[in-house]
Amino acid sequence: MNKTEKLYFKDAYLSAFSARVLSVAEVEGGYEVVLDKTAFFPSEAGQSADTGKLAGANVLDVYEREGVIYHLTDNMLPVGESVRGEIDFDIRFEKMQCHTAEHLLSGLLYERYGVDNVGFHLGEYEVTFDTSRRMSAEELMKIEAEANAVIYKNLPVSAEIYDCEEAIGSHYRSKRAIAGQVRIVTILGVDSCACCAPHVARTGEIGIIKILREQSYKGGSRICMLAGKRAYDFITKLYKTAQNASSALSYPILEIADGIARRDEEIKELKLALRESERSRLLAGIPTLSQSGRQVIFADTDDASLARECANLLLEKADELAVVLYRAGAGVGFVMLGREDVGAICKKATLALGGRGGGRGPMAQGSFSSDISEIIEYFNS
Ligand SMILES: [Zn+2]
Repeated sequence: MNKTEKLYFKDAYLSAFSARVLSVAEVEGGYEVVLDKTAFFPSEAGQSADTGKLAGANVLDVYEREGVIYHLTDNMLPVGESVRGEIDFDIRFEKMQCHTAEHLLSGLLYERYGVDNVGFHLGEYEVTFDTSRRMSAEELMKIEAEANAVIYKNLPVSAEIYDCEEAIGSHYRSKRAIAGQVRIVTILGVDSCACCAPHVARTGEIGIIKILREQSYKGGSRICMLAGKRAYDFITKLYKTAQNASSALSYPILEIADGIARRDEEIKELKLALRESERSRLLAGIPTLSQSGRQVIFADTDDASLARECANLLLEKADELAVVLYRAGAGVGFVMLGREDVGAICKKATLALGGRGGGRGPMAQGSFSSDISEIIEYFNS
């Protein structure tokens, strides 16, 4: 079959076109349509296929095999006739913004640091690309600022097809060795890169580039970024979220992080003060108890270390055994201290009251599943 004429090579902004239907084949999931020419960009170069309509049918996917572009549609098309194609240009333009942004960043990374781009994925939402070595946060901030400065300069972006590599005689970036024809996308004075995807005509159309995050990936960096409309949409959502947080926390929008750090510090201090007051309250009554063989009390806390502290003090008032009960989830926690080994007492108690626990020598810990009053009665009887 003849190769399909790629209209997007000549004009990346062509959103509607007429073409003749060369063949239609029923396949799984729809109909595979081949046209003599198309503006639909297939899934290629890390970018997903264009969507849109062909003679009223929805174009679900577009792919290329040996120079022939196949459009997967949800309806039959008339073979031999001329049909109108229309691509979802808003979505396509967002991809053009993001793809040119990636070239710009990668070109600058190569120029400034000699770093290669070794992977690219233009997803439904975010854009990721991988570098041959790990980039620092400072390097990425510098490159991001420089890339945005190139956007302000509104430099032309062009694409040329050359017959072979030698014909260019100039340097360009490429992820793999290229034989035969090569299409070079050039951002004037900044970058030249072999690429088959549609790009914006001037850097100003990228609008903005924002790097969102970086992570270690196969010895280099995986960088996630947004550009153009997608970056604008993200910033709009981000600002709304920040506004809500600002009014909920009563901090100016640019002081939210500092405000939260201050608040965390206050909460930490308050928790310490609260624990100290809880500790005083729990320990206060113990010295006033009269000496007894067994002492069993309930300490109204869920802090096991406070319960142990209570048990130590309580043992001074007990000739034989001190038991401190406290809140432990759905059950009742206990700390048991004795003058001698309490293992047998603990075992007997957990059998009688339900629960589990254990210990060594004069101390045992665990939890009971019975009521507090039942537990107290057990130990006092
Ligand atoms: Zn590219």
